[in-house]
Amino acid sequence: MASKSDELVFLPLGGSNEIGMNFNLYGFGPPHDRRWIVVDLGVTFGDQLTPGVDIILPDPSYIEEYADRILGIVLTHAHEDHLGAVAWLWPRLRAPVYATPFTAFLLREKLREADLLDEVEIHEVALGGKIQLGPFDIELITLTHSIPEPNGLAIKTPLGTILHTGDWKIDPEPLLGSVTDQDAIRKLGDEGVLAMVCDSTNVFVDGTAGSESDVRATLIPLIGQMKGKVAVACFASNVARMDTAARAGEANGRRVCLVGRSMHRMAAAAKSVGLMQDLQPFITEQDAKNYPSQGILYLCTGSQGEPRAALSRIAEGTHPHVALGAGDACVFSSRVIPGNEIPIRNLQNNLADRGVRLYTERDHPGIHVSGHPCRDELAEMYRWARPQIAVPTHGERRHLLEHVAFARDLQVPQQIAPRNGDVVRLAPGRAEIVDEVPAGRLYVDAGVVVPENGDALRERRHAAHNGMIAVSVVLDGRSRIVAGPAVKAVGLPTDDDYPLDEVLDDLAEAAEEALKRLSGDARDLDDSVETALSRAVKKASQRIWGRRPVVETTVLRV
Ligand SMILES: [Zn+2]
Ligand SMILES: [Zn+2]
Repeated sequence: MASKSDELVFLPLGGSNEIGMNFNLYGFGPPHDRRWIVVDLGVTFGDQLTPGVDIILPDPSYIEEYADRILGIVLTHAHEDHLGAVAWLWPRLRAPVYATPFTAFLLREKLREADLLDEVEIHEVALGGKIQLGPFDIELITLTHSIPEPNGLAIKTPLGTILHTGDWKIDPEPLLGSVTDQDAIRKLGDEGVLAMVCDSTNVFVDGTAGSESDVRATLIPLIGQMKGKVAVACFASNVARMDTAARAGEANGRRVCLVGRSMHRMAAAAKSVGLMQDLQPFITEQDAKNYPSQGILYLCTGSQGEPRAALSRIAEGTHPHVALGAGDACVFSSRVIPGNEIPIRNLQNNLADRGVRLYTERDHPGIHVSGHPCRDELAEMYRWARPQIAVPTHGERRHLLEHVAFARDLQVPQQIAPRNGDVVRLAPGRAEIVDEVPAGRLYVDAGVVVPENGDALRERRHAAHNGMIAVSVVLDGRSRIVAGPAVKAVGLPTDDDYPLDEVLDDLAEAAEEALKRLSGDARDLDDSVETALSRAVKKASQRIWGRRPVVETTVLRV
């Protein structure tokens, strides 16, 4: 029973300004005393704008304050954008975690690496199972997606039922796992769904995403035409796709060799839940060398051009055991994730340069299907669930707003598209944004979690654009120059007309003059000496190059 002051709220702290970094909260109770559940805790990835930062986390600061009121963290599936942040952020939230077996297997591996496995209470839930967390009565609904065990959540509360879809599509033949449990969703619709919080990734795409079985039907004959070595690149987490590539190899007399750490990790996770059992054993990279070119299929990580992944190393000729060349083929059974266009292009150019024939989704449309619902599938889901309120998530602003318009066209009575940090009251009354709390991103920079706008990355970006100059000077006890100023420049161009040694002399002279202009008192203070040197060198750089590099000053006293 709900009391008069109880409210049901939805609060996205990630995943509602971007595709990725999913971090959803549902709250129940009076505004001053809500109980919370967390649904998913994922990461997103850095790009050229975040040099040196590969992993980006949602900022949990707001909910961290109420950590003792978090009843549980429920993970819908094992994609990085849904569970990748658990090992980073769990110490700040400290609630029990609920997941199905495949997801729990991968989570345990991550927690073991982070040395947290003994601390985190993990509850393994069966597919279609139930989780009772205070006022939240949660039931898992089996869906289809691009990873084993994708679950939607029916979250029943005294103020109404939420269908949190997680990531999904309607795959009539997913190859691994069951089909979408439409009966469960229909039944939920019959009982009444207050709000559906739904995947928006493919809201701009007409039709349907297509089935994993279509990919299998395409890949087997395609690989049959290939004569040399074959490499297939796909996301390791798409176990059905791994399975398809392996079977396409076997069907064409090829043995399969996994290349890349996450391929082995996912294969182990898949086998732990009974998948991929009836394949021939995979052969090792060393053994593969003893097979004829036409007898081998490499299943590789690195479809997104990740520099340290297997395929990039193969493309650069630096992989210790795997080499591809003229007559060989590489099949990209994957899509280009926005932001990865440049690394993928470089990777493909490197492979092409070696004489490797490339097969991509663009020229061979059947070799990949998306894991997210296109418009026909979204419409079907709305027909099954018939929610009162449509709450788009898992998208950038443009996806969420398009999804709002789409739901309006489908006559969903209310639609609301919160941004990260917006508190949406779902009940009682009309859905409404009632509050805004801090939400943002944290960067994992060389293993350290730092704020999004921290100094280190700002300086690194600045240095990347403008170069860097180091100035050092040695002063004696009376602040007279003993040696220097010495100047070094990093990442700044010079030419024969104005060669480097002249440039450095001029910069040193500018620094020395600045130092001489300082009063005796100011010279006694390291800070004021550093400021004077830095200013003088920046000003001279502006004159020489028209830019202001990062200037690092060192004052030594003897
Ligand atoms: Zn996702
Ligand atoms: Zn997913």
